[in-house]
Amino acid sequence: MLNREVIDAFGEMNIAFDDVFIRYAKGKIIIKREECVMKKNLIYLVVLMITMLGSVVYAADSKHDLVDAHLHFVDFAQNTDGVDALISCMDNAGVTDAVMFGLPVTKIWGEYEKKQPVHSLDAETRMYWDSKTDYIVAGAYLKATPEQQKKLHPFLCGINTVDKNSLQQVKRLIQIYPGTWQGIGEVFAHHDYISYMTAGEIPRPDSAALMEVYKFAGEYGMPVIIHTNITSGSNTTPLYMDQLMNAVKANPKTKFVWAHIGISNDLDVNGLAGIIMDQLKMYPNLSVDLSWLVFDNIIAPKGVLNKAWIPVIKTYPDRFTIGTDIVGRFLPQDKYYATIHKYDVLLDALPADIAQKVAHDNFLNLLPPTGIVLKDKDRIQM
Ligand SMILES: [Zn+2]
Ligand SMILES: [Zn+2]
Repeated sequence: MLNREVIDAFGEMNIAFDDVFIRYAKGKIIIKREECVMKKNLIYLVVLMITMLGSVVYAADSKHDLVDAHLHFVDFAQNTDGVDALISCMDNAGVTDAVMFGLPVTKIWGEYEKKQPVHSLDAETRMYWDSKTDYIVAGAYLKATPEQQKKLHPFLCGINTVDKNSLQQVKRLIQIYPGTWQGIGEVFAHHDYISYMTAGEIPRPDSAALMEVYKFAGEYGMPVIIHTNITSGSNTTPLYMDQLMNAVKANPKTKFVWAHIGISNDLDVNGLAGIIMDQLKMYPNLSVDLSWLVFDNIIAPKGVLNKAWIPVIKTYPDRFTIGTDIVGRFLPQDKYYATIHKYDVLLDALPADIAQKVAHDNFLNLLPPTGIVLKDKDRIQM
């Protein structure tokens, strides 16, 4: 009885205390909020005016219709600025469409790391294959408005490329999200630091697991974007290229996009333009993506175009795509704008009809007419 009284009294005291505190606190917050709202509105107005002015300037000097054919919706911690931010950046930069893929690995945030690592080299911690990336992409895509969805092309990528469970996971994702996925990638095979940091076997582009995925992709008309380095370390000959070409050759119905033509951190290969010309000639189901370091270091180092690439692109105008390769953090808009418009130096040097293909049409032509629906024969038990 005594205990009950004590508890009741305590409860009332607490409630009374909370009430007073909450009222008091609420009163304070409301007053503060009103001040803040006024100040915030003023700041928003100024930012909006600057943004609008910026947009007018950008739109006026954007000569090419653009598609971002290489874009990670999340960073290495699987975080994102979100669809609204992405679409605002695309609109501001004159980008009509973008691929939307996650990242197949997550970087561990070690207990001794003071800051959350969001890029592969932000910390010495390892990475692990992470399928949740595709669920994040699908969730965001399905929540987007119909107008936003029209501009985005979801690809699934969260597979361990040496694990023969991969095909099952591809089927599972298509079964769970019917009509959503339009392609596969950016899947990771040889990828320098990421390969070294990711636990398990070193991934290869002609692994048994990937071979099954390519075959499936060919049957369903899903393009496959793959990052697999052309070589390793200081070697300047294409040591790993034949592994990818084994896969391309064995799957003639599958459309492959070789991300960055295999150029990654610290890599260079003698005569890359000629090498890729030969591969494009041999394999009609191969396209190449010019994003990231292949453009920054080889095609247009320091923004100056290496003209050796012009005849290659003119010979195979339907087989090149461009993209930002931004990971999850699209804002501020001017960063996104600068990353996609670095290709202007190349596009301006091409005949207008070829520039239109490289900048815009080629990627869209790789896509299936609608999002993929699983055939009954491929359905898995869930
Ligand atoms: Zn890549
Ligand atoms: Zn990438």
